[in-house]
Amino acid sequence: MLHSSVNVRESPVLNRRRLLQFAAMSAGSGLLAACGGLQAQSTWRTPISPRRYSDHPFKLGIASGDPRSDGVVLWTRLAPDPFNRESLPPEVIAIDWELATDPKMEWVVQRGVGYARPEFGHAVHVEVRDLEPGRQYWYRFRTGGEVSEIGRTVTAPVLGAPLERLRFAFASCQHYEQGYFTAYKHMIEDEPDLILHLGDYIYESSWGEQMRQHEGPEPRTLDQYRNRHALYRTDKDLQAAHAACPWRVTWDDHEVQNDYGGDFSEDFEAQAEFRLRRLAAYQAYYEHMPLRALAAPSSENMQLYNRLPFGDLIEFTMLDNRQYRDEQVCREPKKGGGHVVYADSCPDLANDKRSMLGADQERWLLGGFSRSKAKWNVIAQSMLFSRLHQKNKEGKDGSWTDGWDGYAGNRKRIVDRMVETKLANPVVIGGDIHSFWVCDVKPDYDTAKSPVIASEIIGSSISSAGPPHEMFKAFLPDNPHIKFFDARQRGYVMCEVTQKSLKAHLRTVKDVRDPNTTASTLASYLIENGHPGAQKFVA
Ligand code: FE
Ligand code: CA
Repeated sequence: MLHSSVNVRESPVLNRRRLLQFAAMSAGSGLLAACGGLQAQSTWRTPISPRRYSDHPFKLGIASGDPRSDGVVLWTRLAPDPFNRESLPPEVIAIDWELATDPKMEWVVQRGVGYARPEFGHAVHVEVRDLEPGRQYWYRFRTGGEVSEIGRTVTAPVLGAPLERLRFAFASCQHYEQGYFTAYKHMIEDEPDLILHLGDYIYESSWGEQMRQHEGPEPRTLDQYRNRHALYRTDKDLQAAHAACPWRVTWDDHEVQNDYGGDFSEDFEAQAEFRLRRLAAYQAYYEHMPLRALAAPSSENMQLYNRLPFGDLIEFTMLDNRQYRDEQVCREPKKGGGHVVYADSCPDLANDKRSMLGADQERWLLGGFSRSKAKWNVIAQSMLFSRLHQKNKEGKDGSWTDGWDGYAGNRKRIVDRMVETKLANPVVIGGDIHSFWVCDVKPDYDTAKSPVIASEIIGSSISSAGPPHEMFKAFLPDNPHIKFFDARQRGYVMCEVTQKSLKAHLRTVKDVRDPNTTASTLASYLIENGHPGAQKFVA
């Protein structure tokens, strides 16, 4: 019952069939509770002010995110001229928001005022509270006589409350120049109730084939990172996906710089200086995402890792693989970032103390395993989690230092803790590698008998070019825990979760160079309750 058939891009004019579907769904027993909204007076809080914008101020769209059982975050950023900071006065602007129980905004249940602050690039984050659990709402903003489009959002059921079904999609790696974001158009036709973004939401740099261009040079300052986010946010398919349902996000490297780790830059910049660049990037990221004030940068850091429970069915644990990690092992003196190393020439690879998550986040993650009562425990993070043995011509077993293979001790502690706590149905999801992977997660990838503890599914990229397919394919015979791999296709993963199973559909777009491209399913995998390891099935 979770899946709403209401496609906000068709609002406000809904056809009769959709309205009937909505009425039928509202009476159901799934995520959607019965309509119980009171109708508020149809007036806004602030007067239609004399403020006049040079152009429509909602050009970057609207969004909602971080759904809880009693509320969500509503987001927008005023930008009548998205790349020109002078287009708004350096003052706080109060804007109206309203939230309704119907897609035509006739049954308004809450109204309020949000504040677009110049120190946050005139972004608005409204934390709506006192909502009903497990149902959908619609919302919009207004300022100076200008009204935004209408977005749909969803609240989570109360922790532990029965939930039959959840549909969620996950995505990563959307290089603006390398292709159109048409995957999102198809994603919202699949009607998810939640979208997770697992990193590389923007790219700081340019390479490869270009369909369209970045707005400026590689960003280093706050204004430059703001402009980069604004450019990505002008994409209509991305805007529609943000308006279709709530999102929860985590980042990877390109939100700041390729292959950075902690305060180590790819190009060996002085750490104090790089931390300032990183802070500018983090702040621009916060400004553009529907995140709670808790996530706002303070000092030099920004806390993104968090848990997102949906009733008794599923708990998402969002991890941050970048901010707190130790530097990559055996960095070459002149070549920063990740590379492939071998145990004999890089003895430090065996140092189990090295951490991808940092001590605090790791403690928090492992502590949560013993407390979770969810049927499915999804660890949402940015990278391929399972071991990828990369044997060279001499048969030496290589490890990619930027990924989990460079932090194998940290990975083993996580898997061991899943075993100790008997964590129910752990599923790891990720991105970064611009290819689809389905893997068995094991405590020991060198022992054939090592048991399967969790399942892993890695989505491809929304638009970023894939790695060499044949090169990676050649590694597969040495990696029997990898059940599926394809680097040739772009796309996303659509998941359908019930008390009995998790079904994951690897969805692909035919051609990212075509804004009207079609979508299809490359493969579907089924994970049954109590049986770790995904099995291929025909949907
Ligand atoms: Fe990427
Ligand atoms: Ca990446």
